Amino acid sequence: MLKELVVATRNRGKLAEIRAELAGVVETVLCAADFPGFADTIEDGATFGENALKKAREAMQFTGLAALADDSGLTVDALNGAPGVYSARFAGEGAGDGANNRKLLAEMMDVPPERRLAAFVCAMAFVSPDGTEQLFSGRIGGRVLSEERGSGGFGYDPLFLVEGFERTMAELSLEEKNGISHRGQALHQFREYLAQSR
Ligand code: IMP
Repeated sequence: MLKELVVATRNRGKLAEIRAELAGVVETVLCAADFPGFADTIEDGATFGENALKKAREAMQFTGLAALADDSGLTVDALNGAPGVYSARFAGEGAGDGANNRKLLAEMMDVPPERRLAAFVCAMAFVSPDGTEQLFSGRIGGRVLSEERGSGGFGYDPLFLVEGFERTMAELSLEEKNGISHRGQALHQFREYLAQSR
């Protein structure tokens, strides 16, 4: 069992999902808020993987602990992959989930149902003080609805109808979401990695 791990995020939704998956494999899960002065990484990478690695490296350097970072987002075919790495700030720097969702709906107003394909993508980086760097990833397909449904999850979840399900991500329990989601897939790989390397 890994003794301590810092998760480089302030996103409560992500943190809840990550904590749930790591129960039993990591003794103490810390986060950015546990470290006064923890500066948020400037996410200027072109890919989710680059941003995840940058966040994990900075968190490991600042805390001296093994660090895990998630960089994730929604990619929409009809918007040429947007919002992509800009998912958190689609409606502007510091924009909340509500503003981002409204902007997504506005941009897709004229897109018919059969062209509303999208995917959630996640890159997760693990960096430890001994120099280890590992990248994990996940992806789940679906489509963007034209109105919100459900109250679970966070971010774009109420607008994302999961492929093969009749429910949005926000209509799934945390356990159900972790069982299929982009982040759940990456976390599953991370758990396997921890089990093999110890
Ligand atoms: P990051 O913190 O820079 O990785 O940005 C992640 C952003 O992508 C979030 O703020 C959400 O807008 C979106 N996102 C990532 N994962 C999810 C998810 O599981 N559900 C809904 N939105 C997500």
